[in-house]
Amino acid sequence: MVDPATIKYLALDADDTLWMNEPIFVRTQDACRDIIGKYVSNPKEMDSKLYEYEKKNLRLFGYGIKGFLLSMIETVVELSDGKVSGIEIQQIIDLGKEMLEHPVHLLETVEKSVKTLSEHFVLMVITKGDLFDQENKLARSGIADYFQIVEVVSEKNEVTYCNLLKRHNIPAQQFLMVGNSLKSDVLPVLQAGGHAIHIPYHTTWELEKVSEHKLADYTYTELGRMSELVDFFGIQ
Ligand SMILES: [Mg+2]
Repeated sequence: MVDPATIKYLALDADDTLWMNEPIFVRTQDACRDIIGKYVSNPKEMDSKLYEYEKKNLRLFGYGIKGFLLSMIETVVELSDGKVSGIEIQQIIDLGKEMLEHPVHLLETVEKSVKTLSEHFVLMVITKGDLFDQENKLARSGIADYFQIVEVVSEKNEVTYCNLLKRHNIPAQQFLMVGNSLKSDVLPVLQAGGHAIHIPYHTTWELEKVSEHKLADYTYTELGRMSELVDFFGIQ
């Protein structure tokens, strides 16, 4: 168990930790399923095909909305045997544009908690995804000024965290990462020698899931919401 008094650098994940994200993807996927509906007998098969494309395309497109959009288009082209119309492709592109322009909805207790935490720690955002989109969301969130360090990375693994700590001259034992993803925000941070707190979100992207046994040897804390982090540190 981490001693809260040792932590000087507090890093927060962004998507589904600071603001709502995954439900926007789920809603868009629902809308795309409606478009493909007339080409397939079971529109639900789109989900597994899309997942295959997302997984395969990560290497080329990285994380984020634009890669998701291209994967949706590839899925629809394949499932319709190439019959999907230009107008329907345009509808899918428009769905992606709506995602990029979606208002930033901060999660419950985030705004007040982040303000309080910024008075006690070097506060950081560490998020993966599309640089332009993530910077844009942070700028629109209204809480950007509370963060001293913002890092948009292409992947969150042990190497990423080690490099990041080294670059900012942060001793791992003074570093604590908070996020909704066990795979990206918890496991690799513990492997890098830092501390982690998991704040689960009600829905998790398939590619962010990690089997429990992988975490069995590691110690981390789980909290319900951001305000509990303020309580965890005994500050106000
Ligand atoms: Mg997240």
